[in-house]
Amino acid sequence: MNLEFLAPYFLGPYGENNDVFEKVLTELLRDHIYWRRNIHPEDLPAISTFASQSPEYQQAIAKMRTELHKLTASLKQSVPFFSPRYIGHMCSDLMMPGLIAQMVTTLYNPNNVSFEAATVTVDLELKVGKQFAEMFGFNTDPTKSPCAWGHLTSGGTVANYESLWNFRAAKYYPVALVEAVKSLELKLPNSIILNGKLVDANLWQLTNLSIDNVLSLKHETEKAIATAYPDLGDKFNECVEQHRIETVGPAYFYSNHLGLKQPLVLVPGSAHYSWQKGMRVMGFGSDQLIKIPVHSNMRLDIDALRKILDNALSKNIPILACVGILGTTEFGTVDPIHKILELRNEFSAKGLDFYVHVDAAWGGYLASMFREEDGSTMSHGKAKKMFKYFPSKEVFNSITSVKDVDSVTIDPHKLGYLPFGAGGFISRNQDITDLLTQEAPYVFEEMDKSVETPATKQFEKLGQYILEGSKPGSVAAASYVTNQVLPLNYKNFGRVIRQSLKTSEYFFDKLLELKDKIKGRANLCLPYTPDTNLICIVINPVGNKSITYLNDFTKQIYQHLKISRDSSPKDREFIGSSTQIMRKNISENHAKELCEMLGLQEQYFVKDVQNRTLESDRIMLLRHTIMNPWLANDTNGNDYVVKYCDYLESLILRYLDIE
Ligand SMILES: *Cc1c(COP(=O)(O)O)cnc(C)c1O
Repeated sequence: MNLEFLAPYFLGPYGENNDVFEKVLTELLRDHIYWRRNIHPEDLPAISTFASQSPEYQQAIAKMRTELHKLTASLKQSVPFFSPRYIGHMCSDLMMPGLIAQMVTTLYNPNNVSFEAATVTVDLELKVGKQFAEMFGFNTDPTKSPCAWGHLTSGGTVANYESLWNFRAAKYYPVALVEAVKSLELKLPNSIILNGKLVDANLWQLTNLSIDNVLSLKHETEKAIATAYPDLGDKFNECVEQHRIETVGPAYFYSNHLGLKQPLVLVPGSAHYSWQKGMRVMGFGSDQLIKIPVHSNMRLDIDALRKILDNALSKNIPILACVGILGTTEFGTVDPIHKILELRNEFSAKGLDFYVHVDAAWGGYLASMFREEDGSTMSHGKAKKMFKYFPSKEVFNSITSVKDVDSVTIDPHKLGYLPFGAGGFISRNQDITDLLTQEAPYVFEEMDKSVETPATKQFEKLGQYILEGSKPGSVAAASYVTNQVLPLNYKNFGRVIRQSLKTSEYFFDKLLELKDKIKGRANLCLPYTPDTNLICIVINPVGNKSITYLNDFTKQIYQHLKISRDSSPKDREFIGSSTQIMRKNISENHAKELCEMLGLQEQYFVKDVQNRTLESDRIMLLRHTIMNPWLANDTNGNDYVVKYCDYLESLILRYLDIE
């Protein structure tokens, strides 16, 4: 594997790029100092040159240095994410362009809450949103509707919350709109949506409209009112606001609209726990989060989803959203987004509509591998030629259908190789933000459209359209500079992601070799076929049928790979992670298949444990995130994949011998 192309982009496990890093950082630090001095060059230094002579000054500086030394000394116990010996969680070495951009921008301390506090980086953030939107294939041309927009969040968790916040706004807006029309006793022309029956529409119809339809309903109604009641002014909009669920709160809203049930949010059983938290934060209640079973490939079971939708339709239970995961946190698997969309279309024709969000916190950047330089989508055939196994038709179709969903979460601080604090939220229709703020979008109408694209201008007061308030502009700078150095297409950023997929294929093959090597003594299994660059295994000693014994065996091996308080990360040969397949998240059939594959007694893999010595509700797995650029072979011919497999073999044999 030729990895030379990666050399300029990372600081490197040995700090190989130390010279460049230091040179550029010093250059830009000095440049920052000149900037300070040149704001008003006539101003004299505020801190006197004599200040440093005072004992208090010297003491304060000494204290600062002592504490900083203590800090950096203790930080040596940090987890060495940069090392190819780290194959645990979703982080790795950082990309230099972003890292330097973030460090340097911090000196300028821009606050991306609004243009007034971040004259440069708010625009960069919106450009990054656009770059991500384009990577997923959304329309970003503001002269066409719907036009996507995106921005950065502190991470995937907040981006997921934001999808729920956006969706609630759209779901119940029509109800408030009709209430306002009724309470002001307005007579609207028959042409208004729903065949002119807007006011007669029932609650079910009003809460089962697509986002585009909600927004056009809003637009049409406002237009009709402006014509029929030119003197009404803002009164109508105020009245709508007064009737919204966000204003009155859910308790009053539901009691004012009898027959309206609490909405469900559907996620696969493999969903990240942020969805659980999100339901609580939003006040929907985590009981309303429905976990769809996953199939034996650890992807959302589309037949199970259909059953849930059928049931919801028959009982008039509204569904706010169905979430598909592009790269599950625990297994790296990819839900069939294209099939979720097909079901959405099918059910919306029957009157049950819901929004689709893709949680691509982990796998979002995979889309860069299928994006041509001209922005078009690569064919599956062409994509296939670049790999040995990846991407299956299912995975390819799923990733390339993201362009049709309502919103997406992506984490630059995961597969984007950027420092923590960088998540992203992309929405297919930027007009949905009109529902999030009382301030009308005239900010942008006042602008001279010929100067800047409206997409860049409209969100100047970014804080009004997003969940967060004050937020670092440095993160936007990091993401922007990275996307400029390595555009999000297959020749640039996609190439970096491609190496991780190819290394994963290599890792996969080496695991199969190890499986063969130890087959007389232990059964090494991949409990599902990996979809991406996250690979889980389970190892069962030959002859063992007990699930509790299997889990104890895995735990013994994992003791040597895990980060714990009783040993230093640097004493680890390799650092891995673990996960589990929970019985409650999988189907009967799948549980049976797993037990057969591993040779376990199936009656002891249970949802509720009664007998701790015999039964377990989970199968523990060793989990490997394959994203370090230097895993497969570095320039010295070091192959950490082989080293890891050898190490794993020695651990397995050691614990088999203890038996
Ligand atoms: C990591 C992850 C999240 C949460 O993102 P944070 O950046 O940790 O807040 C959500 N969903 C998925 C699928 C993830 O992998």
